[in-house]
Amino acid sequence: MVEYVKKLTVKPYSAEEEEGVIQREFESLLRVARPTIKPGDAKKIRAAFELSKDAHREMRRRSGEPYILHPIAVAKIVVQEIGLGATSIIAALLHDVVEDTSVTLEDITKKIGPETAKLIDGLTKISSFTDNVSVLSAQAENLKKVLLTLSDDIRVILIKIADRLHNLRTLKSMPEAKQFKISSETLYIYAPLAHRLGLYAIKSELEDLCLKYTARESYIEISDKLAETKKQRNKYISEFIRPLKLKLEERGLTNFEIYGRPKTIYSIWNKIHNKQVAFDEIYDLFAIRIILDTSLEDEKAECWKAYSIITDCYKPNPQRLRDWISTPKSNGYESLHLTVMGPKGKWVEVQIRTKRMDEIAEKGYAAHWKYKAGADAQSALDEWLAKVREFLSSPSANALDFMTDFKHNLYETELYCFTPKGDIRTLPAGATILDFAFDIHTGLGCSCIGAKINGKLYAISHKLSNGDQIEILTSKKQKPHEDWLNFTITSKARTKIKSMLKEEKRLVAEDGKEILIRKLKSLKQDYSKTLVEELASYFKMQDSMTFLYNVATKQFDVNELKNLTFQAGHILLPATTHADKKAGARPEEGYKNLPEIPDNRANELFIFNDLADKVDYTIATCCQPVAGDSVFGFLTINQGIKIHRLDCPNAPDLFKKYSYRIVNIKWGSKSPVSFLTGLRITGIDDVGLIQRLTVVISDKLRINMRSLAFDTTDGVFEGNISVYVKDIEQIEDLISHIKEIDGVYDVKRYDAM
Ligand code: MN
Repeated sequence: MVEYVKKLTVKPYSAEEEEGVIQREFESLLRVARPTIKPGDAKKIRAAFELSKDAHREMRRRSGEPYILHPIAVAKIVVQEIGLGATSIIAALLHDVVEDTSVTLEDITKKIGPETAKLIDGLTKISSFTDNVSVLSAQAENLKKVLLTLSDDIRVILIKIADRLHNLRTLKSMPEAKQFKISSETLYIYAPLAHRLGLYAIKSELEDLCLKYTARESYIEISDKLAETKKQRNKYISEFIRPLKLKLEERGLTNFEIYGRPKTIYSIWNKIHNKQVAFDEIYDLFAIRIILDTSLEDEKAECWKAYSIITDCYKPNPQRLRDWISTPKSNGYESLHLTVMGPKGKWVEVQIRTKRMDEIAEKGYAAHWKYKAGADAQSALDEWLAKVREFLSSPSANALDFMTDFKHNLYETELYCFTPKGDIRTLPAGATILDFAFDIHTGLGCSCIGAKINGKLYAISHKLSNGDQIEILTSKKQKPHEDWLNFTITSKARTKIKSMLKEEKRLVAEDGKEILIRKLKSLKQDYSKTLVEELASYFKMQDSMTFLYNVATKQFDVNELKNLTFQAGHILLPATTHADKKAGARPEEGYKNLPEIPDNRANELFIFNDLADKVDYTIATCCQPVAGDSVFGFLTINQGIKIHRLDCPNAPDLFKKYSYRIVNIKWGSKSPVSFLTGLRITGIDDVGLIQRLTVVISDKLRINMRSLAFDTTDGVFEGNISVYVKDIEQIEDLISHIKEIDGVYDVKRYDAM
């Protein structure tokens, strides 16, 4: 992993002392693992430890510690905090070995065994992260990888989460930029995943740690305030608990724990942020938790008994009863929540659960596996994994799209609906009849025309409510429409609809192709892929398929082709009379890796010098070059010469397909116009930031801003601004000024409009 310095930098101990530390840590791992593992396992774990220690022996963490302490710590989290067994402990000990050392997967298969090797292969695959792509899409890609692995063996993701947790616990010694990157990535991917897998304790710790690095000031402010109000809060909690405890014991419940539990800093911060309330206005800074020790058979009855005792003491809010005992959440969570009116007229949340439920709530599914009776919740996880697998295997390749749909499902709260036969289905809140239909079966979704809910008729776009019993109505004539995407929210439905629409369009486009071939024949032209591409771009259509689709649906009249001139299978372009031709120029030094401008057309144009007015040019919107960038010109059919940057994402394609249209461009010294360009800014969200930004851009530098769009997720913001600049120097100047603004983390040029 890139996160660690691999060469020896600091050496705080002597070699013997260090060996002592390592051995002690390992022995402590074995100690905590002992209750979980079988008698023969300790030997295997030791073998894995020796292999890992040897492989990492030259490496150190950035803090100066021997590297092996990291895998030991991860293994400890895996067994102690997640509750996994020997194979996972071994995989955790070896998790960085294949990626960072000369040990190979084959070595591990031979020395440790194939099952461990498979887990490590999964771990190695999900940890590589590309730096070159934009943060967002890289994260989306990463998540997709994570989930692909997840659907193979859930232990891979559990170990990965443990790895991430330990990295965050020791993030202090990393440089600031790294801290920011790792924490925002964690907030974006790993915390929601931990949540989905029911690892509440880890999820909360991850969020708090991330907040510390992405919004340090808010973090400190909240933790200070929590400390300040602690005494007062504890007094209130004991006042609340005292009569309750007596009543519970009086009524024969003796084996229980009751305590007040503060909310996490992150959840408080989230509330302040999303609901725009002050710290003092948040009433639920804590919840009261009652944990009963009962036998499995008595669980439900005892929990409701506790409920009735509590409501004898304090008046409940009927709107705030959550029964996750009868219907557990799909991540396995079971608990009974109620909100009651406590002393001094304060609302207090009370959570009732058994010891078994509590362990599942804190540690998630791994803990669950210990309790054989949890078959129901286990099947909910299986169901969820099946859903993940299903939309990963569908051909909709766009990772960002997938991410948006998927995240939606991760975060939304759930609602429960019933089929006519009374089977329960879990859907995200906001789901519609159409989502429900697709959830049951793709065929049912595609032919759905409405539904009967509790005996009444509703349209497919109708939003479902908790407890609805739904009978889907179908018609053979029905088929997916574009606007279905406007009222579906589940990724399953959306992925299916998108791929059906695409397929539909492709079929229609096939007809368009036939029509076009006939028309071209009458014009004595051969059909070719290149020609269709040229036609599509000439008539300004998105792509060839769209062009053919429009031909088939008569949105484009093929008779228009008569007005074009063709030559050698291409559309003949208007002569470039403006061109000021000079011969022999090659691209500048230092651009050797960029596409080469073809020799046969070594034209070179100057723009923005004295001849500027003679050249008919436009600036490409795909890469938005400004004066000073290395550029090339592309002869277009009706927009003159289009200026692209040499590193434009479309450049390789243009060079490959249309080398005959490429011309060399040199910037003259005079630049009479301004160029529109985009900057992408990432940083830590805080109140004054946007204002500080606009002050720098428009007041201080007097740069003309065209648009400004900001988006904040969990305290990390991403902003896109479009500005008019004179040349590349002005951009560089602007970037360095923005970078100096408090709260800004990174500024990059950005190409897409
Ligand atoms: Mn690691």
